[in-house]
Amino acid sequence: MGRAAAVYNKPVDTAANTDSFPFIELPELEPGETADPLLIVAAIGEVIEHKRIITKGPEFAAFGEDTSMDKARPDVAVLAKTVDEVRHVMYVADFYSVPVYARGLGSGLSGGSVPVKGGIVLDTSPLNRLWEVTPGNRSCRVGPGLTIQQLNEQLKSYNLWFPPWPSSHDIASIGGNIAENAGGITTVKYGTFRHWLFSLTCVLPGGKLVHTGSSAVKDVAGLDLTSLICGSEGMLCVVVEAELRLLPIPPAIGTALYVFDNDEAAARAAQSVLAGPVTPRTLEFMDATVMGCVVKQLGDEARDALGSALDVIAGPATGGAVLALETDAHTDADALAQLTQLDALLTGLGGKQVGLTVDRAEALKIWRVRSELSPSCHQLGEFKLSEDVAVPRHRLVEFVAGLTAVGEQHGLTWLNYGHIGDGNFHITLMFDSEDDPRIAVGREAIGDACKLAVSLGGTITGEHGVGLAKAPYLKLQRDSEYIELMRRVKSAFDPKGILNPGKWL
Ligand SMILES: Cc1cc2nc3c(=O)[nH]c(=O)nc-3n(C[C@H](O)[C@H](O)[C@H](O)COP(=O)(O)OP(=O)(O)OC[C@H]3O[C@@H](n4cnc5c(N)ncnc54)[C@H](O)[C@@H]3O)c2cc1C
Repeated sequence: MGRAAAVYNKPVDTAANTDSFPFIELPELEPGETADPLLIVAAIGEVIEHKRIITKGPEFAAFGEDTSMDKARPDVAVLAKTVDEVRHVMYVADFYSVPVYARGLGSGLSGGSVPVKGGIVLDTSPLNRLWEVTPGNRSCRVGPGLTIQQLNEQLKSYNLWFPPWPSSHDIASIGGNIAENAGGITTVKYGTFRHWLFSLTCVLPGGKLVHTGSSAVKDVAGLDLTSLICGSEGMLCVVVEAELRLLPIPPAIGTALYVFDNDEAAARAAQSVLAGPVTPRTLEFMDATVMGCVVKQLGDEARDALGSALDVIAGPATGGAVLALETDAHTDADALAQLTQLDALLTGLGGKQVGLTVDRAEALKIWRVRSELSPSCHQLGEFKLSEDVAVPRHRLVEFVAGLTAVGEQHGLTWLNYGHIGDGNFHITLMFDSEDDPRIAVGREAIGDACKLAVSLGGTITGEHGVGLAKAPYLKLQRDSEYIELMRRVKSAFDPKGILNPGKWL
């Protein structure tokens, strides 16, 4: 099925670097003077058309927020359409020492792109081209504004795909995914974004370009800046192009769903899967409280999706926790063989099988239970506090049991779900409204859950990043030596501290 490499347009020419870029002359400030927003807008407007420099209007407020609870107001938002425009903005910002907040599609859950110190929001979502596909190297080059869904659609004709698959695959940009080192439902088998990068092209404060990595699968020429930039939350540089690793699309996918008597039984079963020989491509967990909400949300359709397992979940007893999983392979027979092996293990550990299939239509029906999850939480309240701790995969049972105890200590009931195959839990508390006085207690409980995750050898955030939301908890995991080292790394990239200031560094 392979096709020759196609070049849709000219990608970044990494040889034509810093010296060739026409940095324009800017008016100097008087000593002690700070840059007025009007001056910044005028300087940016020397190169970028005015309709893409936004300072007011109905869409302006959105540049000050993401999907977390934090909001702020920038002085100006700039929609960059070319790499040179990004370079110009970074040159202006550095020249006048003005904060710059790189932004993708604003789906972040930790406040990463929120412009807490005002200044410039630099939106890279218009840089959304698939520049080049090289099937012979299983690679492609993309602008940061493309979503994974858009990329994988375009890669279908090459029979290739990009395996990391965040649940936000249609609402998040690849630039944002790289900045957060996004994971997702396929991480258990295929890893996170960091594992799928050949190289990055980035703009530094001041406007210089830096090209990391190479197109070779193996590359140990010096420090691995690709991995450092991946997960750096827009604090080191702005990603303007990425060269991604690809795989042939697996033709067969198997899907199955199991209900367990309680959360710990499901966690124990997940641990056994991970200790076994078959690696599922997806292994997701929904606790009994979440499942109760899903059943309510599905209403009359619950029986159709869950069959007789509905009686386990919605029966008079406490209800059941769920594991949903997928396998992938070259043939249906292979995908089914993997499922059959997992089925023997899971039913042996008390799992009640709800469905097991390699048929896509049937799988979608089973998968509804997982896809209804997010809206279902609102069965228990309007306001959501949710964080994404992760623990080593041999300590899932201890975490699940410990989390229940933390909830009891604070008089709160968790909704716990997530990518259990990666040990990554989305621990969630619902409240009646944003004025609910119990929210302060909820934040304390989240702090204690972070402590629990760290005490088990895990982390305060598996995929959403520190941003603003996790900043109060960072010291639970990183000591002052570590934080100081990160500060020194940041200042090597960004000596004036203009990139994403006011967060955790
Ligand atoms: C419903 C829902 C489901 C989600 N599911 C998942 C999931 O499964 N896995 C997961 O990991 N996350 C998930 N997320 C979180 C979110 O989608 C990711 O963090 C995503 O990577 C953010 O991408 P974005 O383009 O929206 O970035 P933004 O929110 O715009 O920015 C996020 C961070 O990236 C930086 N940034 C953006 N673009 C650039 C750039 N070009 N160069 C440098 N830095 C940049 C910003 O400064 C900021 O720090 C989910 C969010 C929602 C709302």
